[in-house]
Amino acid sequence: MKISIAKTAGFCMGVRRAVDMVLDASNLADEPIFTYGPLIHNPQVLEMLESKEIFRIDTIPEKGEGIVLIRAHGVPPEDEQALAKAGFTVINATCPRVVRVQVIINKFAKKGYATIIIGDKKHPEVVGLLGYARGKGHTITSMDQLAGLPAFENAVVVAQTTQNTEFYQEIKDWCRVHAPHYEIFDTICGSTEKRQNEVRELAKSHDAVIVVGGKQSGNTRRLAQVAQETGTSATHIEDAEEIDYQALGSTQNIAITAGASTPNWIIKDTCLKVDQNLKRRRPVMGRLTGVLDFLLKTNLLLAVGAACLTYGAAIIQGGGQTHVYAAIAMLYVLSMQVMNNTMTIKSDTYNKPDRASFYKRYGRYLKVLALISGCAGLYLGYTRGWVFFGVLAAMTLLGLSYNMNIIPAFLSGRRIHRIKDVPGSKTVLIAMAWGIVTSLLPAVDGGTPWGMAGVSFFYATGLVFARTAFVDILAVQGDRIAGKETLPILLGKKKSMRVIQYVLIGSALLPLCGFLLGPAGNMAFWLALVPLFMLLLIKSYKEDSFLSGSPYEFLFESSFLLAGLAAAMT
Ligand code: SF4
Repeated sequence: MKISIAKTAGFCMGVRRAVDMVLDASNLADEPIFTYGPLIHNPQVLEMLESKEIFRIDTIPEKGEGIVLIRAHGVPPEDEQALAKAGFTVINATCPRVVRVQVIINKFAKKGYATIIIGDKKHPEVVGLLGYARGKGHTITSMDQLAGLPAFENAVVVAQTTQNTEFYQEIKDWCRVHAPHYEIFDTICGSTEKRQNEVRELAKSHDAVIVVGGKQSGNTRRLAQVAQETGTSATHIEDAEEIDYQALGSTQNIAITAGASTPNWIIKDTCLKVDQNLKRRRPVMGRLTGVLDFLLKTNLLLAVGAACLTYGAAIIQGGGQTHVYAAIAMLYVLSMQVMNNTMTIKSDTYNKPDRASFYKRYGRYLKVLALISGCAGLYLGYTRGWVFFGVLAAMTLLGLSYNMNIIPAFLSGRRIHRIKDVPGSKTVLIAMAWGIVTSLLPAVDGGTPWGMAGVSFFYATGLVFARTAFVDILAVQGDRIAGKETLPILLGKKKSMRVIQYVLIGSALLPLCGFLLGPAGNMAFWLALVPLFMLLLIKSYKEDSFLSGSPYEFLFESSFLLAGLAAAMT
């Protein structure tokens, strides 16, 4: 019994770029923001944009103000000029692959060539392309129409980027025979073809295929059709509520894919619901994953991880009394994480819909848990003396004020009101807070030499930085919607991944420094396992960009337990 998620499921490059551009504009600008026509054919994304007050205009007014975003399909050049003339600031989010076709048409149209576009004349991309043909554009959707066109002295032939490759091959073959002087360009986007090939293969090796995406989205409909053509049962749904579990029956292997305009949160939600349904059929497995989910959602696993990291840091520091420090770290992390989750329900609705509904449902109890653990941690800190208590209390206050408007406008400009608004602050502050509570405070309290205190601090901070930044990469789409300024939003996914890897390599070398320079002993070598394990998980993510599911998250959050294991072996 398994669920496979297509690697190509979800936004294509052009759609992701357009959605990112409109969200970035909305998060940065104070002016009204519009899209010219629907940004993409997906009702949930359009609803989300409206909730962020990004509205749509379908006609160009004589006068306007604000920002208008041109969608990935592109528009005729005269529309772009008219928008600017009306007074809008125009952001052109036309997909670079569509821009390439526009440039080809424009270049040849200037020389007087006729343009033959293979595609539906009503499709927005084709409407935009025709605008570059200087009145000499022709669209065709069949071989008969091609044969019926006049014989042009000069013509350029292009295809709408989402056209069928086999059909375009026929067109090219016909032209080579009947009009060899025509200039023909390969303009079909590989993204559509890859997606269709993958669903064809998945359909052959699975009992059922679920295709997720807007009912108006042509590429999603075509995806469902390709899957059905293989003879495997395939359903096209717009969201998880439409899944017919009775029709799935005793299906064992299900493949899930999605159109180019389907956002990750809808795909995640669908996977989650199908997964839950399959597990209900196996009660033991269902109960086990239920426990796992509970540990993740309540952050109990992460809190135990913080305790383990404290034991690990203690190895580098040369041992000493650690139980009380481990308990303080566990209580502090539990309190802060739970509190933070109760305040991030909005972004979780997109990133982790199951956690968002868990916090909506049990928010009151979870706040009590955060309060009790926070107070218990502070009390234990107090037993270690005023300095320990003071630092812990300051960190708690900082954590609690993270989401509050505490930065005066005259200091920060209009955009930054909360610590949370400072770009990249979350990743750095969480890592430092963990580093202080799991290694620095115990080191100072226990009189560890500064050198070893520093090594253990950077080891713990590095690991937590990597974990937080990686979780942020998984959540980048929802965070952008919620207007969060996380590291991957600031640097981009690739650069963030590189930073994480360097940090983890550094963290793997630090325990060895501890061994060479101080009292860490042979067990320090085992501590290198934690960053190495994380590097392995990241490698697997890069090779097979899967969606974050509970088992995977469980593995990542469990990395810190390895530090506890190393400590237990000393
Ligand atoms: S399908 Fe291809 S051409 Fe069309 S928007 Fe996506 S990446 Fe661009």
